[in-house]
Amino acid sequence: MRQRLEPSPGVLYVVGTPIGNLEDLSPRAKSLLKKVSAIACEDTRHSGQMLKNVGAKATLFSFYEHNTKTRLPQLLKLLKNGQSLALISDAGLPGISDPGEELVSLARNAGHDVICIPGPCAATTALVSSGLPSDRFCFEGFLPQKNKTRKKILSIIAEETRTTVIYEAPHKLVRLLQELCHLCGADRPLQVARELTKIHEQQIGPTIGAALEYFLVNKPLGECTLVLGGARIQTNIQLTRSELLIEMEALIKNGASASEAARALATKTGQPKRFLYNLLHEEKKSKMKINF
Ligand code: SAM
Repeated sequence: MRQRLEPSPGVLYVVGTPIGNLEDLSPRAKSLLKKVSAIACEDTRHSGQMLKNVGAKATLFSFYEHNTKTRLPQLLKLLKNGQSLALISDAGLPGISDPGEELVSLARNAGHDVICIPGPCAATTALVSSGLPSDRFCFEGFLPQKNKTRKKILSIIAEETRTTVIYEAPHKLVRLLQELCHLCGADRPLQVARELTKIHEQQIGPTIGAALEYFLVNKPLGECTLVLGGARIQTNIQLTRSELLIEMEALIKNGASASEAARALATKTGQPKRFLYNLLHEEKKSKMKINF
């Protein structure tokens, strides 16, 4: 297969870097980082040693959450001037709970090619080593800290039938496990992947209850990714049309959207989500007619 010349002028390269094990930096990523004209990284000091090791001579630009506004125009200007630019984060894939999405979108809109040099990602690494279903899954990243939104997201996660991957800082892990235990029950399958790709890599599970018990005794240390098994579809619950509506309307009153309410009831009853959503829609239409 013919390979395109890398790096090419005016192209943004999104480069995956190791999440712990430095051997995971691919030969293609090394070669690109060595030859590219500029590199945007979250923390120039953090990435400095790795970039020195690969022999990178590019100009480094710090690019993190709080300087994106000023940095974005500068990085886009580099591309416009025909320079090649690599984007890396402290670890893993940029754009996955790390800066990147906005730069990629703006670069594309400005007509630049964007090419990803794939590499490790904690979410997919944790998922495929968890033993939990990986045919369909959701990624939640870090959960919001604000109470109301957090509660809402947690209740959606609890009803989700696909495997869900969540990032969490070690000092907040026990709180999250307690919340999940309360909403999903102690028996729900879960694996906490700790220190993936590193010497002390570990998987703690196989349920929320077992992981919580472990971390209440062993202080969580290092990086953690949670892989939560999906909710079981309960097909034995038979509700009438009006009972279904009452339950969905109660969820909507508590802040869920129509789509979220339909999904939650689909999980609970085994009824198709589309059917439940249409039920809500029909009810809304008939109420509007009565009001006229
Ligand atoms: N962009 C990164 C990626 O592609 O995975 C994720 C960056 S996010 C700021 C950092 C979070 O990823 C950590 O808090 C942790 O939840 C997870 N993580 C990163 N490295 C990990 C590792 N070696 N083992 C387990 N989880 C990890």
